[in-house]
Amino acid sequence: MQNVLVGYSKALYATWFYYKPARLLLDAGEGIVHVLGKRIFGIRKVFLSHGHEDHIAGLPSLVNLRNLSNGDREIPIEVHHPAGDPFIRYLKEYLGKKQDQRLRYSLSWHPLEAGDTVPVEIARRPVRVAAFPVAHTRGWQSLGYRVEEQRQVLRPEFAEAEPREVGALIAERGRAAVVEEVWHPLLVYTGDCTPPEDPAPFRGADVLLVDSTFLDADELEESRQRHGHIDASLRLAAEAGVRHLVLVHLSNRHGKREVLEAVDRAAERHGRPPRLGYFYEDRYVPLRGAAD
Ligand SMILES: [Zn+2]
Ligand SMILES: [Zn+2]
Repeated sequence: MQNVLVGYSKALYATWFYYKPARLLLDAGEGIVHVLGKRIFGIRKVFLSHGHEDHIAGLPSLVNLRNLSNGDREIPIEVHHPAGDPFIRYLKEYLGKKQDQRLRYSLSWHPLEAGDTVPVEIARRPVRVAAFPVAHTRGWQSLGYRVEEQRQVLRPEFAEAEPREVGALIAERGRAAVVEEVWHPLLVYTGDCTPPEDPAPFRGADVLLVDSTFLDADELEESRQRHGHIDASLRLAAEAGVRHLVLVHLSNRHGKREVLEAVDRAAERHGRPPRLGYFYEDRYVPLRGAAD
């Protein structure tokens, strides 16, 4: 996990994840420069889910250190963000002043709507980030992000074909009749949100990072906040056939034992995903999954 995904997550404090294979940063809470050090020069694109402090407060330090510390200071940074989020607009104005004072690289801002996609050039196969709507902020749209890789798969009618038959089928019918291109979700990140009702954006994800601030529906209801909970996260993983569920944005009101008990209760109701774990601060803590 640590060689693919580095991050920090604790509700109210900070949340961000650096996904190394695509060199992108999902959210930008405090602590990025401290944890990543020189690796900040790897970051090409930043995707902000919404403008709450715990998801954006690390961006000014990142922008500053990329300008001043030793490394490749020419690499541009693109910041993709939900259109219409007023807090991100203030941040952009603030960092715009900085930009006027001669940043050595290009810092650009790209408003997104749900359904928009952004290509990621760095990867071996075509990869893109797709934005989808989540319920968290009131009055403007928060976004979750799906990192997808383009793959060629056999069309359903040929799914049972033996590998050695495939060449002959293509020769006979043409490639397009036998093979189709799909966008496979490598990693899906919800940002902050109430439990998603539609499993479609999460279907078949290799890794899902999902808001699990609270233990269960009762605790969420009591809080009157717009966040997720552990029970709903396991339910979503089961409904969507997620391979590796990572609970994030955990509240520090809960000790490890309470988290483990909530996971066990949820697993009794919904089953365990093949792989399972959670982020607490900058640590990924693996838990027993169905495949272990
Ligand atoms: Zn928030
Ligand atoms: Zn948050």
